[in-house]
Formats: sequence, C-alpha cells, structure tokens
Amino acid sequence: MTFSEPSTPLPSTNSLLNSLKSCIHCGFCLPVCPTYKVTGSEVESPRGRLYLLKHMLQDAKNESDEPNEHLQPKQIEPHLSQCLGCLACETACPSGVPYGDILHQSQKMFLTQKNPFIRHLKRFFFQTVLPNSNLLQFGAFWLRLYQKAGLQRLVRFSNVLSLLPLIQHYEALIPPIPQHKPFNIGMSFGNPEHERVALFTGCIMDVMYNSVHWATIKALVNNGYYVTLPEQTCCGALAYHGGEDDIAKKLARKNVLSILRSQPDWVITNSAGCGSTLKDYTKLLANDGIYAEKSRLFSEKTVDIMALLAKKPLKPCRLPIPQTVAYHAACHLHHAQGIINEPENVLHQIEGLTLLPLKDAAFCCGSAGIYNLEHPELSNDILAEKIRHIEATQAQTLVTGNPGCLLQITKGLQENANPMRIAHPIELVAESYSK
Ligand code: SF4
Ligand code: SF4
Repeated sequence: MTFSEPSTPLPSTNSLLNSLKSCIHCGFCLPVCPTYKVTGSEVESPRGRLYLLKHMLQDAKNESDEPNEHLQPKQIEPHLSQCLGCLACETACPSGVPYGDILHQSQKMFLTQKNPFIRHLKRFFFQTVLPNSNLLQFGAFWLRLYQKAGLQRLVRFSNVLSLLPLIQHYEALIPPIPQHKPFNIGMSFGNPEHERVALFTGCIMDVMYNSVHWATIKALVNNGYYVTLPEQTCCGALAYHGGEDDIAKKLARKNVLSILRSQPDWVITNSAGCGSTLKDYTKLLANDGIYAEKSRLFSEKTVDIMALLAKKPLKPCRLPIPQTVAYHAACHLHHAQGIINEPENVLHQIEGLTLLPLKDAAFCCGSAGIYNLEHPELSNDILAEKIRHIEATQAQTLVTGNPGCLLQITKGLQENANPMRIAHPIELVAESYSK
C-alpha cells in the first residue's frame, strides 16, 4: 500500500487570531452545542474551544494576557476533535464568529498532532476508496450478501458482538443495502428543452441510498427539468472537514471541470454534506488559478434538491400520501447552507401528508461525517436525545436530507426496535407522482 505525502499548507496565525478575537464570550452558543449539552464541560463548548485556541496561538506569539498558562497543541487538539462541526454555534452567535472557518483552519493546524498511521489510513480512504465507485460497489456487494444470507440477523440476535463493543457499534450502522440500480455517465432524463440540471450522485449516497437518486430524477422530470448525469467524483467532504485540503482540492477540480462542461443551469445534490462542500469549493479553490472563477460559478449553480423544488409551486401530484411525517434538519443543510423552511414547504404541498413538529429538529444527530466512527460514545449520547424527540412525535415516517443522518437515525430506531419508516424527503415527493 502506498500513500501520497500529506502536503496541506498551514493557515496564517494572524488571520485565525483575528477571527478568534471576534468571540465576546456571551455564551449564547452553549445551549445549542450538542457536545456541551451531553458533557456539561466548558472545554467541549464552542466558547471553550475558541478560548483554548486563542490562548494557544497567543502563547506561541508571546501575546497572551495570561502568560502563566502555556497551552500546548496536544492539550487542545482532543477538544477540537470532539467537535461535530455541526455549526449550530455559528447560527446562534450574535457576534458573527466564523466558527466553521476557524474549525477548518484548526483541523489543518492539528494534522501533525494526529496518530500518523490513522492519518495515512484516512488519507488512503479519502483519496483512493471514496472516489472509486467500483471499490465501493464491491464493498456493498459483500454487505448485501451478509444481509441476504441472514448473517446480519444471526449476529444481531445472538449478540455475539457484545464482546467487541466497537465492532458492534460499527455493525449497527450498516443500513439495509438495497439492490443498486446503476447510472451510466451521459444518461439524461426529460425534455432537453427544459431547464438543465446536473445530478451530483456522490459516493456513499450512491452506494447506500441509490434509490434516492432515482426519486430525485422522477421528481425533477415531473416538475419540468431536464436531468443529466455528467462525469464526476466524490465531493471530498470528509477530506475537507478533516483538514486534508490537498485531497479535497484534487477532487474539487475534477468535479468543477467535468460538471461545468455539461453546461447545467443547476448542479443538484440530495446530500446535505455534499451540497455544503460543493458550495465551499469557492473558498477551497479561491487561490487556485483558473479554478478560482470556475469554482465560484460552480458553487453558485449548486443547490439542494428541496431548495430547487421550493423555488416554484410543485406540479400537481397524482397520488395522495396519507402519512404523518416528522422532519429532521441535517446540520449541513440547516446551519451550513441556511436551507431552513424549504424542505417542509415542499412537503406541505403533498396531498394527504401531515407534518408533525419535531423538538430541536436542527440539533445534530451525532453522525457528522465519520464522527460516529471516531467518537462512538459521545455520538451515541447525542443520538439518544435525537431518538427521544423523534419517538415523541409518533410520526409514521421520519425524513431527513443527508445520508449520514439517515444511517445514524436508522441505527437509533433499530436499536429501540421502532418500526418507523426513515426516508429522504424527495422520496415522498417522487411517490406522490406515482400512478
Ligand atoms: S460545531 Fe457543533 S459541536 Fe462544534 S462547537 Fe459548534 S455547536 Fe458545538
Ligand atoms: S455565541 Fe459567539 S460570541 Fe458568544 S460565546 Fe459563542 S462564539 Fe463567542
């Protein structure tokens, strides 16, 4: 196994310090922070993390107003790595602290503090596994076989994995893997005279929730769009959020060039995590020669499927959906992209569907990319709160627009033996166009 050398450039300390100084320590962000809520610890809060970072940087420049505290990166990195990156703090902050940017800069700064073997393994996963759809499909084939042969039921029923709690936690995250109905690059659907959208299929979304793409196509075509499938690769979200910008940039350049070549009016995504990263290509490639302008254009055209459909009234549905539905707002849709009312506004237009309020709907479910793999205990504590609120709605269906949330909430409900249906909101829209 060979690895490319990590080469992410370090951020400027001065610009990071300036951003950190915009925190006025008011604490408005504390009640919305999931890690603060479950630990009750200031150092696991946004304010605490910002304070620690600021003092570490000031110490390094001999500017600290508390010179006796010499904070070292290794003391601070664990608290930053326990942050979900949900950005609820950024939404709540009255002072406009750019928490997402600060977190991203600090991730890059702390890369050298990470265990080198784990870091290289993650880089291999980000740059070799995720962009390779054949490898992902190969993995999905074995998981499907594991489920179809009844092994999963046997493993769960026998509770044999209770001897290996970490493996048991990972196994519980495997959702039912449906048969994959593949796409061919260059496929198109609908009337070419209509507005042209390029569908971004992503990596995990395509393997685990391929049916959501077909539902997206059906909803778009029924609403007068022409859907194309240009050549593309993984969006690079996990590399980007992990501070591995060199990998994220390579993937971003490929996507920007090949998708823009298809001349779309819109680039559509049905994954909140992908959508937020595709929009961040502007920042990621801001100083990247010809890509700076192209990425700006690309990010402007990028829109979540529910936000696009909310721009115009839905075309009349053919089939009522008489279901009670609760909506969980994925962090990377609600906080990172500011898409707040659009999904529910679209769902409201479906005949027969009743939306039920979900308490703290925009509170993280604990999935957060690979957070639930890296911090299983905290992730489970955060999920438990989410599941309590979901179950209290007594809805028949829970909908959410992000594959990580779909996986995490499926796990939480399955562990409680709750038969509630879990779906992407676009699946309900597509079902309403069935004959
Ligand atoms: S991003 Fe989320 S977990 Fe991290 S500090 Fe902000 S609110 Fe807390
Ligand atoms: S709400 Fe903003 S200004 Fe107030 S403590 Fe949190 S990050 Fe700082």
